[in-house]
Amino acid sequence: MLNLEDAVARYGIDAWGGGYFGIDDAGCAVAFPHGPDGPSVTLDDVIRELRRRGYRSPYLLRFPQILQHRVRRLHEAFRSALAELGYPREYMGVYPVKVNQQRVVLDALTGESHGHRYGLEVGSKGELLLALAQDLHPEALVICNGFKDRDYLELAVRSRQAGRRTLVICETLQEVRDVLAHASEADVRPELGLRMKLYSRGVGRWQESGGSHAKFGLSTEEVLRALRILQEADSLEVLRCLHFHVGSQISDIVAIKEAVREAARFYCQVRRRAAGLDLLDLGGGLGIDYDGSGTASDWSRNYALEEYCRDCVYYLGSVCQQEGVRPPVLISESGRAVAAQHAVLATSPVKVIGRSEEASVSLPAEPCHQVRALEDVRQEMSMETGRTRECVRDARMLHDEVLESFKLGVVGLEDRAAAEALYAGICRDALATLDHGERPGEAAELEAYLAPFVVCNFSVFQSTPDTWAVRQVFPVMPLSRLRDEDSVPVTIGDITCDSDGCISAFPGRGGETRRTLHLPPPDPDNPYHIGVFLVGAYQDTLGDFHNLLGAPNQAAVWVTGSGRFHLSHLHRGTSVAEAAEAFGHKREDLLSRFEDLHGEDDSPWAERYRDCFLRVLNSNTYLRG
Ligand code: PLP
Repeated sequence: MLNLEDAVARYGIDAWGGGYFGIDDAGCAVAFPHGPDGPSVTLDDVIRELRRRGYRSPYLLRFPQILQHRVRRLHEAFRSALAELGYPREYMGVYPVKVNQQRVVLDALTGESHGHRYGLEVGSKGELLLALAQDLHPEALVICNGFKDRDYLELAVRSRQAGRRTLVICETLQEVRDVLAHASEADVRPELGLRMKLYSRGVGRWQESGGSHAKFGLSTEEVLRALRILQEADSLEVLRCLHFHVGSQISDIVAIKEAVREAARFYCQVRRRAAGLDLLDLGGGLGIDYDGSGTASDWSRNYALEEYCRDCVYYLGSVCQQEGVRPPVLISESGRAVAAQHAVLATSPVKVIGRSEEASVSLPAEPCHQVRALEDVRQEMSMETGRTRECVRDARMLHDEVLESFKLGVVGLEDRAAAEALYAGICRDALATLDHGERPGEAAELEAYLAPFVVCNFSVFQSTPDTWAVRQVFPVMPLSRLRDEDSVPVTIGDITCDSDGCISAFPGRGGETRRTLHLPPPDPDNPYHIGVFLVGAYQDTLGDFHNLLGAPNQAAVWVTGSGRFHLSHLHRGTSVAEAAEAFGHKREDLLSRFEDLHGEDDSPWAERYRDCFLRVLNSNTYLRG
């Protein structure tokens, strides 16, 4: 058995787990929903309980206590930064609803509202509706971003009459005029913000969200025009907030410092013209270390939460001091950093698709010259001449030539089969002899080429869509047998009929991103699940119904102080009937069409066919385990 430290290091858990995940002595994955010092739960125990209740893989396990812990950590980090740097105003957080709108998520987060005046940020009238139906602290902010129509604006303005602290952030000059018009019609004093386009950009996958060509926000000239519009309407005092957002998952702290410095200058200049201005909203962007590298790579960040908070407070405070302006209340809209860790997808391997490992290759009676040459290369490898790398490159060229010749009709199936088998054998021998430490890139390439595909019962497009859409890296590891020594490198495929439905980047030892994942060999007597971690932000809503595969079974897991757990918010995954309905195929229509086609037939064959049709219609969309 691998020692515990090696198992933890192999999957890089200490780096990406944020103290919420680990491995126990038995080699099983555990979660610490209250943070690293709290009680833990073994994920396999949760799955066992779900199976006992009749739920089968895949599962989406949610830990609402992680969400609450994240909110507390965020507020504590800002509170101590404010105290340490003597910043004279307070911090107010809002959760951007679009990051995950699930009821259980909003309930857990708004449960923290009264303790921290924690509010919500919305980007559409639908999200505003959700926000207005939550029990928030009376002073908590509801920040309205995004494009707005009459209904959106009216709802926002009227919610102020009901005592909500709703702040409309204007993205266009027309919105400024519209807010004033709605407010005067409803006889309400609005609170208004302006979203500004900063010159500074984020760094990483979403850097285009910032900069002067950003989709959202007012240019400097438009901000000045907005001030004139407000002045002419004798309403300058309703301008309360400036807002910016330079992108999600900002990987480099320097980009955050730059943006805050620029925004602080902007704030001071506008505040001299509009004395009611009192809030600065820094948007989202606080990153998550998905790949565990702690660097400025797209799926990591080179700073800690505390550093982020200190930098925001420091740059804001120092610019305001230089400018002699009273510093603003500081707002942030961190979404990913609050929600990502709370959800784990648990799936089960269903099939292994590997290259043949036959040691002896059957050659055609008269092999083509490339196949003969491949044979020679393999023999040379066995003589250990020290030319391993050269042999692999020669073999690759010969293998590719055979495939080209096959396309042109020059060689037949037997030659092609022999070339594929010989090349795989050469790669396998090379991998065994290559010095992995000296040639890590080449070893990784060979390993990825040879790695079997473990097909798992889930859909990338439904459960981890960002692996496909933006090549996001998510941590993956088995949920048990984590200390097995005979684990082998594999890649992961889903059950969609789409070759993009795979995961082929995994955080590994020392923060390196690997193209393969170590999994124990499947054993029917000792089956295991595979967990995809940190999928709590954006994946639920972006997920789609590719191949009519729907939502997995879901449960919220609560861990008590004594380390026991209970489940709530159990939802059966989408049924085939529900998935079909989402595309206009009503259940009754499907049934009546079926009856029109086969209703007359009362043969035993037709009876069985009808039973089977009904069973599939009512079943879960995933493979029956
Ligand atoms: N605020 C706005 C305006 C956004 O567009 C986003 C997301 O891109 C967020 C907040 C949340 O960002 P993050 O999840 O990076 O914290």
